[in-house]
Amino acid sequence: MRIFIYVVIAVLLIILSCGAVVAFLTLEGTPPVITPVIVQDRLGKQVYIEAEVSDEGRGLREVRCFLTQGKKNIEFEPKTFPAVSWWSGSDIKRVRVNWSGVLTEHGFTEGDAQLVLIAHDYSWRNSFKGNTVTYQKDVKIDFTPPSIAIKSIFHNINTGGAGLVSYSVNEPLARTGVWVNELFFPACKTGSDKNYAALIAVPFDARPPVHIIVEAQDTAGNSSKLNVPNKIAYKPIRKDVINLSDNFISNKATEFSSHYPELKGTPIEVFLQINKDIRQKNNDEIRAVTAHTEPAFLFQKAFLRLPNAQPRAGFGDERHYIYQGKEVDVTNHMGVDLASLEHAPVPAANRGRVVFVGYIGIYGNSVIIDHGMGLFSLYSHLSEIKTLANNMVEQGDVIGLTGMTGLAGGDHLHYGMLIHGVYVNPIEWWDVKWLQERIFNNLHQ
Ligand SMILES: [Zn+2]
Repeated sequence: MRIFIYVVIAVLLIILSCGAVVAFLTLEGTPPVITPVIVQDRLGKQVYIEAEVSDEGRGLREVRCFLTQGKKNIEFEPKTFPAVSWWSGSDIKRVRVNWSGVLTEHGFTEGDAQLVLIAHDYSWRNSFKGNTVTYQKDVKIDFTPPSIAIKSIFHNINTGGAGLVSYSVNEPLARTGVWVNELFFPACKTGSDKNYAALIAVPFDARPPVHIIVEAQDTAGNSSKLNVPNKIAYKPIRKDVINLSDNFISNKATEFSSHYPELKGTPIEVFLQINKDIRQKNNDEIRAVTAHTEPAFLFQKAFLRLPNAQPRAGFGDERHYIYQGKEVDVTNHMGVDLASLEHAPVPAANRGRVVFVGYIGIYGNSVIIDHGMGLFSLYSHLSEIKTLANNMVEQGDVIGLTGMTGLAGGDHLHYGMLIHGVYVNPIEWWDVKWLQERIFNNLHQ
């Protein structure tokens, strides 16, 4: 009899403790957490809202999103997460959710509004409705695009050349810059919050029509575009012939194969791969290095040309490569070749920050300097580099010695200049008058 009572008590204790464990697990009281990812202070016609929602307990049941303005209230499509079983809740513990919509379609008007996000979990608390968390934010609805006023005047630009567009806007912006056909040149703030300037380039091979357009997008996503009156001078492209000797191509094939083991074939086949694939790869590397820039000019003077040097090849030259009497390739020369004495000291063309030192395939040992606002200078085929990445250099500081590393047939400096990754003709930047009229005067309008 006594044993029977003990057994009953033991069974009851087990049931009670199981019940306690079940209650502990299913009635957990920790609400989900909402972390806004993209929730703008200002909402435009097109809205996009993104949040991360997590629940460490029994998992997420539902996330809802509302926008309220006075009596108007809309709910975006709720995000619901099914339970794995009635017992175990949801296995969604952390999720990114987003909503998008067109506010004008719902009759919202400009002014104050409130954004509300609500998340529920699979706890059995609150009559099985779960724990709830609410995120609220006051927002402004703004459908008015920024207005742009162009300040710079002189927009006479050569193909392969540079220009500067300055303008003011009437409100804070999220993104702005200048389009030259399909190329985008980001603008920098100049002085106050409302003034901007962008250095732009017209590619050497651009053909009419060239459209130059300022774009300004405010923080609500409203965008304006304004055409910049301009005059483009279309410069002829000079043709050049390069005869490839067996000696040159076999030397270069050997040299490049040690850097690029993927190169295969006869010396001329290897040369053609270098001239196409490696050239492409190297230009991509240079574009990546020049993607980040100081937001203001770091220089005040015209650029310096390698002293006492003869020009060997010009900017944009169309090079026809001849091997055994036949044309085997065509490329364009995106810099200026300057030959001085062998191993001549190479001065920094202007004040700036060294952003790259090292080997870049066809360019050989190279230095790249950031001069601000997207303007960079490139020094290539160096026999020796005499500076370090991140150094600030003054005009005239020796950064290396000329040489013939990379795809060079003789000792010279290949000097290149880029604006936001687009090669431009260095000749303009050596010219004090051009720099004053086309760049500095436009900047200070
Ligand atoms: Zn060159």
